[in-house]
Amino acid sequence: MKIIVPVKRVIDYNVKPRVKADGTGVDLANVKMSMNPFDEIAVEEAIRIKEAGKAEEIIAVSVGPAKAAETLRTALAMGADRAILIETDAEVEPLAVAKILKAIVGEENPGLVILGKQAIDDDSNQTGQMLAALLGRPQGTFANKIEIDGEQVVVTREVDGGLETVKLTLPAIVTTDLRLNEPRYASLPNIMKAKKKQLDTKSPADYGVDITPRLKTLKVSEPPVRSAGIKIADVDALVAKLKEMGVA
Ligand code: AMP
Repeated sequence: MKIIVPVKRVIDYNVKPRVKADGTGVDLANVKMSMNPFDEIAVEEAIRIKEAGKAEEIIAVSVGPAKAAETLRTALAMGADRAILIETDAEVEPLAVAKILKAIVGEENPGLVILGKQAIDDDSNQTGQMLAALLGRPQGTFANKIEIDGEQVVVTREVDGGLETVKLTLPAIVTTDLRLNEPRYASLPNIMKAKKKQLDTKSPADYGVDITPRLKTLKVSEPPVRSAGIKIADVDALVAKLKEMGVA
């Protein structure tokens, strides 16, 4: 079985994003970029499935600028076998990514596609679901546990207030949640080896996909600044203060 893992290059999760002065978007100049954290979890899970002898090949895929090749090299250094970069400088919305992935699934025929549950830049949480719908394949989203059981995959899902376990017939689409695993760090020898692994570069047009945006960003703004707190000496002062503020 092959596993495809789509990985997105996003602002590193440790970086506090800055909104551009004109409010048209987030400033990406000189900002550290990394693999979307949920996609690292997806790569890790694919590697564990392969290590358990239940998959033969892991293909990492990224849609993005030439620099997304670095993100793919990270996936290769972690343990993916080969990579495909669909190069474009345009902003690509989840539906267009899902259409490109559908075309790649048509060529590669993977048993599983493991995506992150969401990209931390757009927070869309759409691509995996759209891909499953376009392919007409079963989906297990927000995976907390994934077990391959013959021709099926059992996915334990994080849902509001607990866990839900579903059984899907392969081929299927799974998206990862935070507690699925702890991704490994790539070792230096593996980083060196990854430089020699196959990385093919394509364009959205190679897959016949029109990536013209369907949405227009009207405005991006910073969250409101929280006002400073105050210290209150005792309960009486607290009650007096609440009365003064009209909340008690
Ligand atoms: P989203 O629907 O944008 O929140 O993204 C969900 C998941 O889809 C991500 O965690 C990735 O696995 C995948 N994905 C989204 N955009 C891309 C992209 N440009 N390249 C590769 N994978 C992507």
